[in-house]
Amino acid sequence: MKNLSVLFVLFLFSLRPAFTQELQSPEEFLGYEIGTRFTRHADVVKYFEFIAENSSLVQYHTYGKTNEFRPLTYAAISSEENLQNLETIRTDHLKSAGIVAGSAEGTSAKAIVWLSYNVHGNESSSTEAAMQTLYELINSKKEWLKNTIVIIDPCLNPDGRDRYANWYNQVKADPYNSSPTATEHDEPWPGGRPNHYLFDLNRDWAWATQVETRQRLKIYNSWMPNIHVDFHEQGINEPYYFAPAAEPFHEIITPFQREFQTEIGKNHAKYFDEKGWLFFTKERFDLLYPSYGDTYPIYMGAIGMTYEQAGGGDAGLGIETGEGFELTLIDRVAHHTATGLSTVEVASQNVEKLNTEFNKFFHNDNLLYKSYALNGSPDKITALKKLLDFHEISYSRATAGKIKGFNYNQNKIADFNSTENTLIVNTAQPKGKMVKVLFEPSAVLTDSLTYDITAWSLPYAYGLDAVATTRAISGSKTVNASPVNNKATPAGAGYITKWDSMQDARFLAEMLNEGIKVRFSEIPFENENQKFKSGSLVITKSDNRKLENFDSKLIEVANKFNRQLTVAASSFSTSGPDFGSSEIKNINKVRIGVLRGEGTSSLNYGEIWHFFEQELNYPISSINTGDLDNKVLSGMDVLIFPSGNYDSILNNQKMKELKSWVKSGGKVIAIENAVSSFAGKEGFELKENKPETKKDSTEKGNLTPYNLRERESIKNLITGSIVKTEVDNTHPMAFGYDDTYYSLKLNNNSFILLKDGYNIGYLKENPEIISGFAGSEAVKKIKNSMIFGEEEMEKGSFIYLVDNPLFRSFWENGKLFFVNSIFFVNNEDMNRY
Ligand SMILES: [Zn+2]
Repeated sequence: MKNLSVLFVLFLFSLRPAFTQELQSPEEFLGYEIGTRFTRHADVVKYFEFIAENSSLVQYHTYGKTNEFRPLTYAAISSEENLQNLETIRTDHLKSAGIVAGSAEGTSAKAIVWLSYNVHGNESSSTEAAMQTLYELINSKKEWLKNTIVIIDPCLNPDGRDRYANWYNQVKADPYNSSPTATEHDEPWPGGRPNHYLFDLNRDWAWATQVETRQRLKIYNSWMPNIHVDFHEQGINEPYYFAPAAEPFHEIITPFQREFQTEIGKNHAKYFDEKGWLFFTKERFDLLYPSYGDTYPIYMGAIGMTYEQAGGGDAGLGIETGEGFELTLIDRVAHHTATGLSTVEVASQNVEKLNTEFNKFFHNDNLLYKSYALNGSPDKITALKKLLDFHEISYSRATAGKIKGFNYNQNKIADFNSTENTLIVNTAQPKGKMVKVLFEPSAVLTDSLTYDITAWSLPYAYGLDAVATTRAISGSKTVNASPVNNKATPAGAGYITKWDSMQDARFLAEMLNEGIKVRFSEIPFENENQKFKSGSLVITKSDNRKLENFDSKLIEVANKFNRQLTVAASSFSTSGPDFGSSEIKNINKVRIGVLRGEGTSSLNYGEIWHFFEQELNYPISSINTGDLDNKVLSGMDVLIFPSGNYDSILNNQKMKELKSWVKSGGKVIAIENAVSSFAGKEGFELKENKPETKKDSTEKGNLTPYNLRERESIKNLITGSIVKTEVDNTHPMAFGYDDTYYSLKLNNNSFILLKDGYNIGYLKENPEIISGFAGSEAVKKIKNSMIFGEEEMEKGSFIYLVDNPLFRSFWENGKLFFVNSIFFVNNEDMNRY
């Protein structure tokens, strides 16, 4: 028996491939030629695991998981010797650049190339190419690995990729059908591009609102590669796009970063010309908005690039293009594999130059603004610090005094009072260039032809007072305030707490979830001579007398959310309304419906869904637009119309039903393009603002030269600029706000000021564009227009959010308008159960 078991063990060993054995290609491992099927994410992971187990040139790690529990992974690929010293190589790389303290241990520097695949789930040739690239690197390209570390993240968006691949596998013909009209080329809403919450992960690098980004940034910051490539796909009729990129370039991009893009592009061109593959460069894909997979790495010192293959959700395994040939997945994979390998080749030929220039990038003594100082609500400062932590940007706190510099609120050089709670962010730190990009009042635009937002300055986004100074302000280490420790006071009449931040909103949501009844004050009041602003929450003993352990439960929730409660010994107010006054209104635990599906913007629906689940933690019902009827309405108190086009959904009958539901106390919240669905309709005072066009110019005919047609058209464009907005903060929708708000204007939609309804946010005669590009005609169109409004209809209301306060979830200061709309605006007639 003994001998037999030894034999059995030997037999098992013989099944394990030794390191020296020929490694299986993706085709051999998966059982089909790469490009003839879409590989499920789990099988991609299996192939990487197989290679890592059997090759001494590959290490493979899991760095997190997605919302749908798929693993996020990366492989480090290099020579055996380098992999044995990988930790030293990594830390030496950071030390040489001054990103972490200490001096390098003396290993010769290596080039670090990071290849990111399939951030858009339905641009699916990239993950297939990741497997092929891995295989070729460790077989035919070993030479390059002597001085280069390649990091491959085979799939940044596994949930989106599998959404696409699984759908395609379900509907495809066998063999596949290349006719563009076949169902396999018509991806249904919402498509595989975004992640679980329908966010575009290639707009999220800097804002880090999504779990994929947050977990990736930890690994990214621990490596800080010399080169980063983001693999994409574009329309089926395009050739291949690679670097150099198009203008505008952000001014922070160094001459070397520009030149080296060209060097890499020329190397790709060599291979593409050899094979007779078409490509283009220097067009369309610009380098400005900081949240892309090319710009973010650039602002972090890398050569950041986007590569675009023809393909995407329409393409399937093969499709007839407009140019009369069939575009196949096999070809798409070949192109992405070629550029990936060519990138590594150029890196390996330029290790020294790449590192010399990389190390220089992190010296930031010559930037105009040396420090940014920020004041404001401690909750907003905390939220901003959390964002800076994701990027490993350091900050400190000031001392009391006066600081002179560019004052954001006054939009000019002015004094600014600092306290020891003032947050200081200096540019003289390794990530100082990223600090500049994120904080500077306006980015310089070398060209206004860009189709993403052109403004994102964080002080405006977070609603903080700020100053930018040309002299460095030294600060001391920030200290976290000790957590609040409320004590139950059963003898009092109740508790009062402030209302001005998302943390307050989360606290409210949790109280409602816990069955605690809460009120808010519609006007300011004083209790025992302490002043409370409009919107302050009042939690009374009287309302909660049936709740067991009310005091201890409330204290527990308040302490969990770090909210300071003020004990009110009596509900008698020293000034203003008492707790029993009709000005202290009950907050209903509203039932919220959110429309989704055909007609809605998947991005905006996703922002709303994500907001309720991940930011507010309050339940919603998602409703397909096709299912909207009286029965659905009768189960809701609030119905949210995400940005979208509802013309075909809101036919006369549906509109009648919706209006009668609102008249009986329902509340509609319409966001961005959804607002247009109600403009000019019967019974609404809402109207679009259509400035008269000058007659003579149209009578003359179009005299714009053909070659200037694109430039001319941008006069009408606003694609994302910051506009100073007047606010009526006596209206419940604006509780917690000052009388001005910096709105991120995403388009030139414009509605006239309501005459009977309320204009809570609005632009006056001369709208002040604080930051970013706005075309001259577009600016004319938005003057005297409503940004946030409420139109009452009998007992209910239509609430209009012309600017989307949840855009990409990064405009932190807009979110409370949305919360207020749900819980505060016109809620008195909503007890219709
Ligand atoms: Zn893409």
